[in-house]
Amino acid sequence: MSHEFKTFLTMAQAIDAVATDFGQYGPQPDLFRKIGPLILGNDFKTGILNGVKRAWVRLNRNQPFTPVDDTALGFYFIHVLETSEKDTARIAKICALVFQTPARPGVGEGESGVWIDSHMNEFVCKRCGNCCRKLGNVCLREDRQLWERLGRRDILSWVKEEQLDAGGVQYRIWIDPQTGKPAESCPFLAQTPGKAAFYCAIQAVKPLVCWEYPFTKKHAQHTGCKGFEVNERN
Ligand code: SF4
Ligand code: SF4
Repeated sequence: MSHEFKTFLTMAQAIDAVATDFGQYGPQPDLFRKIGPLILGNDFKTGILNGVKRAWVRLNRNQPFTPVDDTALGFYFIHVLETSEKDTARIAKICALVFQTPARPGVGEGESGVWIDSHMNEFVCKRCGNCCRKLGNVCLREDRQLWERLGRRDILSWVKEEQLDAGGVQYRIWIDPQTGKPAESCPFLAQTPGKAAFYCAIQAVKPLVCWEYPFTKKHAQHTGCKGFEVNERN
């Protein structure tokens, strides 16, 4: 069976995407038991503590194994991925497990990284508008720059610049300029008259995060997107 590998992630982008997955879905014990050996090698094992199956890690061969809760384990995995030697085959295996989709090492844009099969060829948007409601998000600096070049004050007024603890800034969308709080729904979500179908009123200049959504079948399933549900097409 052939797959269409559509999305290329550099190594840094792949690790960021894994971190985002952990942030969005929280601790995923079954997944963490599978990727533990890929990330930590022999410094990872599972064992029983007080009758409960737990992950155990050791910092190096000279240290004893200690049990780790899954929230801390997720952060530790990302730390190790960011600071250890980058191996594209290993990162591809991790991506395949995390995103529940085929992934393979490769080269794109002159950099080595991972090709992800997003299954988007199976995707049909149902225009329910769910993804445009209550899904907190950030846009890129490039999105903001585009809106500035176009003079789109109407869009920019819903973008809030936030300072990050680690330095740098992020741009949160869609923040109500009146209340300073996240909007219940994107202000640019519009309804087709007389139909239970929605569309984007800024389609041509919507942020990249909207172009890429849902990115993977797993993310669609976790965020209430029915775009992969074949029996509801048409
Ligand atoms: S949630 Fe999925 S199906 Fe609904 S509008 Fe968004 S992309 Fe389309
Ligand atoms: S910009 Fe368009 S696609 Fe993005 S959340 Fe708003 S309505 Fe939805």
